[in-house]
Amino acid sequence: MKYKSYWLDSATPFADAQPGPVTGKVDVAVIGGGFTGLNAARKLAREGVSVALLEGAYIGAGGSGRNGGHLNNGMAHGYGEAKAHFGAERAQALYKAYDRSIDMIEDVIAEEHIACDFRRSGKLKLASKPSHVAGLRAGFELVHKEVDRDTRWLEKDALAKEIGSDSFHGAMLYGKSAMMHMGRYVNGLATATHRHGALVWEGAPVTDRRRNGSGWALATPKGTIQADRVIAATGAYSGTFAKKPLAYFRRRIISVGSFIIATRPLSETEIANTMPGNRTCVTSMNIGNYFRLSPDNRLIFGGRARFSAVSDQQSDARSGQVLRGAMTEIFPHLADVQIDYCWGGLVGMTKDRFPRAGEAGGMFYGMGYSGHGAQMSTLIGQALADMAMGRSDTNPLAGLDWPAIPLHGGKPWFLPLVGLWFGLKDRLS
Ligand SMILES: Cc1cc2nc3c(=O)[nH]c(=O)nc-3n(C[C@H](O)[C@H](O)[C@H](O)COP(=O)(O)OP(=O)(O)OC[C@H]3O[C@@H](n4cnc5c(N)ncnc54)[C@H](O)[C@@H]3O)c2cc1C
Repeated sequence: MKYKSYWLDSATPFADAQPGPVTGKVDVAVIGGGFTGLNAARKLAREGVSVALLEGAYIGAGGSGRNGGHLNNGMAHGYGEAKAHFGAERAQALYKAYDRSIDMIEDVIAEEHIACDFRRSGKLKLASKPSHVAGLRAGFELVHKEVDRDTRWLEKDALAKEIGSDSFHGAMLYGKSAMMHMGRYVNGLATATHRHGALVWEGAPVTDRRRNGSGWALATPKGTIQADRVIAATGAYSGTFAKKPLAYFRRRIISVGSFIIATRPLSETEIANTMPGNRTCVTSMNIGNYFRLSPDNRLIFGGRARFSAVSDQQSDARSGQVLRGAMTEIFPHLADVQIDYCWGGLVGMTKDRFPRAGEAGGMFYGMGYSGHGAQMSTLIGQALADMAMGRSDTNPLAGLDWPAIPLHGGKPWFLPLVGLWFGLKDRLS
């Protein structure tokens, strides 16, 4: 078994990183080489703005190279919760922004000729318990009536065509949702960004940020670069390399581990018995699971598994065991299937699970997608590029306040308590 992301292991790595020291002066410096930062830098470079992207590790090292591969429309929340939180108008606008983000990815892939197996698969939100059916169905009816006609309700007996498991009691189908190969997209985005003229440094963590006249000096172990404006696209990884320059975000983002296993490629018979519908699937539990087939027919099966803030080989392996158990419960016929990959990554949650994008402390920022950012990050990257060029009307998150989380300095000491709470809710539901 390989303890690395299947997506990164099966994609051609980005090969155009700047070889020399970090130096010079640019209009905009972007911190973070995931979807958000890359699409911001790509858009700026296309517009003729001089831009440097500084990635602390390598392209796709964060969530963008480690996620479940789902481009799901709809929000991390139920639409009803968003409506209660924001009112109908804003909730609808936000829901539509998720639809738009998937359309935008499709456009970027076409414009930049990125071969990444994008497919409008549709997503199933599966009721894990009979008691979950009524709530899920009510949610479907509201969404279908108010914001997304491309949704359907599937009764339990209609699920046999979709999924080879008796574990589910009904499902909501989101027709606009998609899937793609995340490693090929993130590396393709980086290649396009470089091709449009952006300088992309890897192994260049920003460890200090200081005012320099009207701009900023960003220090890395490879040297210092001057920039008029700065975009922070560091998400759940904002505290990985240095505490100080991104401290504002560390007090607002809760970094939580999420973990994934990938089986060996399944045979045609196994696919027919497991995922005949070939869609992205998400269960209705709070500590739930998400799964899909890869382009080479592996089952990519993920979940929070344990409420841990650490993703390293030991933590990933422990979570992999939990995930194997969960996969076997849903698909007993896969109990002995070989697992080829096991990996994890950090998800950047906000307290209310709505993402944030705006300007603070002299930086434009976009993050906090709360496990639902593989699609939205491309759109927010573009909105950040617009903001850096003086245009703010493309940001669907404009104006959301974002107070610091009390007693939170970056290490989420409260995660075990949150895990207990959600586990209890799942048992009682
Ligand atoms: C296991 C897992 C499964 C997921 N599954 C899904 C899914 O199926 N669907 C979905 O919609 N979302 C999913 N997500 C979430 C999604 O992957 C993220 O929301 C999205 O990739 C965020 O992109 P980003 O560019 O904002 O951040 P990231 O991709 O996390 O990139 C941030 C980058 O910033 C760099 N960085 C941090 N600090 C510095 C510094 N000081 N200097 C320089 N660089 C720095 C990091 O090295 C990192 O590469 C998942 C996440 C994980 C971890």
